Amino acid sequence: MKVAIIGVGSVGSAVATAVKNTGLVHEIVLFDRDGMRARAAAEDLGHAASFGFDVKISAVNNYRGIRGADIVIIAAGANQKIGETRTDLLQHNAEVIRDIVPRVMANVDSRNVILIIVTNPLDVMVMLARELSRLPAGRVIGTGTMLDSGRLRTILARTLSVSPQSIHSFVLGEHGDTSVIDWSGITVGGLPLDDFCRQTKTPISVSARRTIEYRVHNAAYEIIHGRGATWDGIGAAVADLLRSIINDEHRILTVSIVAKDGIAMSLPRVVGASGVTVSLIPKMSATESAELRASARVIKKNFGLL
Ligand code: NAD
Repeated sequence: MKVAIIGVGSVGSAVATAVKNTGLVHEIVLFDRDGMRARAAAEDLGHAASFGFDVKISAVNNYRGIRGADIVIIAAGANQKIGETRTDLLQHNAEVIRDIVPRVMANVDSRNVILIIVTNPLDVMVMLARELSRLPAGRVIGTGTMLDSGRLRTILARTLSVSPQSIHSFVLGEHGDTSVIDWSGITVGGLPLDDFCRQTKTPISVSARRTIEYRVHNAAYEIIHGRGATWDGIGAAVADLLRSIINDEHRILTVSIVAKDGIAMSLPRVVGASGVTVSLIPKMSATESAELRASARVIKKNFGLL
């Protein structure tokens, strides 16, 4: 399994480390328009590989070097600075995607390659990458709200004193300021959230819910404030997505692909070796459904600005 990573900044490097540590790939190639940065990352990661799985890691100077890649991860482009939203990156990163995707497609096997998009604003970049690549929608996969869902799961786990593995909870819609927490669909140990809270006498008040929502929606802003960018969470999310693809696990992940209506946003989707095969429509409250539709409208509007 050969994986190419385009863009080896904070996120690309963390993704490379997390992917290497899965032990599921035999080769990782790194490309960045800053060749020195890619070479330094390959060198450093190569040293790390000597302590763990024997993965061949190299930097490539041009797109011919990604030939034979089964999966291409795009993590290039500007990141949010303090005070910026993901949407502020729209025009700049659209140019980055326009630069990268045609060159990638000229060097991979379009019959089976899978593109994973990490660049923000995520959902619009998925729409653009799908348009440029002409790949089937299920093989242009944005990490979407995987990270947001992970953040929600972690916060709930700490609140309820159970393992995150025992919680099913999804954040849906845009990977951005309009993402929607599917409170109606949360289950803990197979029980709906409210039932779990009643049985364990750990009620979550309305104001506690608002606080959780605030923390999920603002996590990236707080991390950027403290360390300049976010990378560990997304690195782990990409590795998790890759695992479901490489092992054909058919796990249900909140990833973003272009749907029949032409809009990409996150829903619970089945992910396996051929990409996304099934998308689910969650049972949400009327308010949550309205919020999800509003989120889709924002993504559509932003795509229209390109
Ligand atoms: P960074 O500035 O550290 O790195 C970006 C890298 O992209 C740089 O090395 C740069 O040289 C490279 N690059 C830019 N244009 C390029 C091009 N045309 N071809 C090849 N390489 C190019 O930024 P970062 O912190 O690594 O963030 C990268 C992207 O990931 C941003 O858009 C950020 O918002 C996004 N991100 C997404 C998530 C998510 O959940 N989807 C999470 C965190 C960050």
